[in-house]
Amino acid sequence: MSSEPTQTYFSWQQDNWHNLRLLQQRNRLPHALLFSGVKGIGKLHFARAFGRYMLCSNPASPEGEQGAENQLSQVACEKCKACLLTQQGTHPDMVEIVPDEPGKPIKIDQIRELTRFVASSPQQGGYRIVIICPPEEMNINAGNAVLKVLEEPGKNTLFMLVSHSSGRLMATIRSRCQAINFSQPKKAESIQWLQQKSDNDNIDLLLSICNGSPLSALDFLNDQGLERRSAVLAGLKGAASRRLSVTEVAQQWQKEKPDSLLEWLSSLISDFIRYKMSESVDKVVNKDAEKLITKASFRVQEEKLFAFIDKIQEYRLQVISKTNPNQQLMYEDLLVGWVGLFDS
Ligand SMILES: [Zn+2]
Repeated sequence: MSSEPTQTYFSWQQDNWHNLRLLQQRNRLPHALLFSGVKGIGKLHFARAFGRYMLCSNPASPEGEQGAENQLSQVACEKCKACLLTQQGTHPDMVEIVPDEPGKPIKIDQIRELTRFVASSPQQGGYRIVIICPPEEMNINAGNAVLKVLEEPGKNTLFMLVSHSSGRLMATIRSRCQAINFSQPKKAESIQWLQQKSDNDNIDLLLSICNGSPLSALDFLNDQGLERRSAVLAGLKGAASRRLSVTEVAQQWQKEKPDSLLEWLSSLISDFIRYKMSESVDKVVNKDAEKLITKASFRVQEEKLFAFIDKIQEYRLQVISKTNPNQQLMYEDLLVGWVGLFDS
């Protein structure tokens, strides 16, 4: 992601960009925007680029674009003083509120700083830009503080709330924002983009297991995701055939992130169900496990699969709410459930 130029938007976001630019040209830009769409398609990147554009003193057209389109496609120039500051992340009129650590909620202290920021005057005399991502990851106190700021935003302030799951956002916050939907890029476009970033041969598979989100797919690739997945898959196969004990496999899994492992396991079991119902591999998401799914699914009863998915979901909730006490025990329990699928 870091290799993407920070002043531009992704090719699949052109309509979003043009629509916002039109609103801005007509002086109709609302003070709060809610960017919603699935994770991993570049919404935060877009918000940063738009914020940089708003603060830039001399917006420029991307090369190769002409006429009216050219006007609407303008982005930050990368040369003016404001652009240098926004590029370094030190512009006094642009703040970004994200969790201190990935996966953790945004804290009330961070929102208190925001309140002070909004109450002061713009340092450079222009717009003030506030990006909050993801706003659904706030506790009720922080949410109420944000609501208050949105109710009295001050002049020339643009809020961009970047949400991966806007249904979970406080309804009172949602109603203060104009919603902008970001759709997922078409598969061909994602593949083309990924091919520019990587010469990996498994781009199709990558995209499929990352639910069609190109940025997630790239992160996954850079994070050795494919290698880690095949290790997890080997553990599942080993346990199912009793070559490996559940304790051994659970130990191997200790180095995995529990939320992604559980998400994947759940997706794998959904594939078993889909395959059992359709007897076709077309709908199988986890293409790297296709052999296992087609070979083993006839041995498994549907009811057992549904019960197992419920078990995984329970653990996922515990992991999200950080109440699961012991990872080793959780993995062992899940593996016992997994092995049990194949008992007749
Ligand atoms: Zn500039």
